[in-house]
Amino acid sequence: MPFRSIFDAGDVMSEFESAAINCKFIPLIWKHVIQNPNCELDEVPSLPSAAYILLQSKFKPLTSTLHSVTDSSDRLTTKLLIKLGNGALVESVIMRYDTRLGKYAGKPRPGGPRSTLCISSQVGCKMGCKFCATGSMGFKSNLSSGEIVEQLVHASRFSPIRNVVFMGMGEPLNNYAAVVEAIRVMTGSPFQLSPKRITLSTVGIIHAIKKLHGDLPGLNLAVSLHAPIQDVRCQIMPAARAFPLVKLMDTLQEYQRNSQQKILIEYIMLDGVNDEEQHAHQLGNLLETLEVVVNLIPFNPIGTLSQFRASSQQNVSRFQKILRGTYDIRTTIRKEMGQDISGACGQLVVNQSDKRATEDPPLLPDIEDLQLR
Ligand code: SAH
Ligand code: SF4
Repeated sequence: MPFRSIFDAGDVMSEFESAAINCKFIPLIWKHVIQNPNCELDEVPSLPSAAYILLQSKFKPLTSTLHSVTDSSDRLTTKLLIKLGNGALVESVIMRYDTRLGKYAGKPRPGGPRSTLCISSQVGCKMGCKFCATGSMGFKSNLSSGEIVEQLVHASRFSPIRNVVFMGMGEPLNNYAAVVEAIRVMTGSPFQLSPKRITLSTVGIIHAIKKLHGDLPGLNLAVSLHAPIQDVRCQIMPAARAFPLVKLMDTLQEYQRNSQQKILIEYIMLDGVNDEEQHAHQLGNLLETLEVVVNLIPFNPIGTLSQFRASSQQNVSRFQKILRGTYDIRTTIRKEMGQDISGACGQLVVNQSDKRATEDPPLLPDIEDLQLR
């Protein structure tokens, strides 16, 4: 039996319970590992002796390693390439949205710089969206909940993370149990991320969305809609056939009735495919009865054998104007970050030039954010 990650919460809890060890020690172990990522588990102080024997025989502090770290030229984005226990590589991207001076009347945001971490839930993805680099790899494997949490542990060495978005590799709702468990760990002690600062982005797996609010109340939901009618959606997202738009919209209505939260609608702008005036009107009508924020995403062609082109600036702003002006829908245009390091969403390009040495991590975790309760 290979060693499991100490962040695989379900496994650790069931082992502790069957050995009659109090589970209250688990967050203490996590806190120690976060502060000392190179430690051994027998170095965690003040545990019952039975815990040391169990931990040493079944668990490792981290099962993944930092393979490479690449900063974008403006240093606002850092891509972590993480090697899993099975040798596969996944990416996580740190985006320092809030550190930009000038954003709030020339002053940094109160509370200091805080970053958003984009994490992966699978190696590859079986949904096969035609514009997505991850989709072109096919599905390779699921991450365990511990491997999902470990991305946050690695990233916390570089930046204090306040927001997490599941917009890296994979379809999180196709790895439902592990993703739910990982989010529960992230929102508990010692990470204490607020659930409303965690955004799960999905292509629209209807049966999973139906369970989501019950399992993770307060979570932010983002839906990759990308087209206002079933026909166009099927052209660019083969999975849309299994999850028809009408049923998806009914499911989102139900989700919103229960959660009482806005839903983020992601819409990738593809020239001549879904970016015309009629599409904006169709989308406006489709979303009329939902409370949403629409995020228009510039298409990033890196890493895809692409039949698509990005929409012109003109088309993007026309689309935004229609949604705002005619339908009164809050509509933003996603700022492109980290393109020079292939760190944009949906892109996995293993380019190892220009990377930082990982042997010398620059910063310790920001412990201030990891209060133990
Ligand atoms: N599987 C989930 C989450 C990962 S993809 C989902 O599809 O929602 C995260 C986001 O990146 C999605 O909105 C996806 O459509 C977008 N994306 C994928 N490929 C892209 C590309 N080439 N350019 C811009 N965005 C892309
Ligand atoms: Fe999978 Fe999301 Fe890429 Fe589609 S866009 S292939 S669902 S990762």
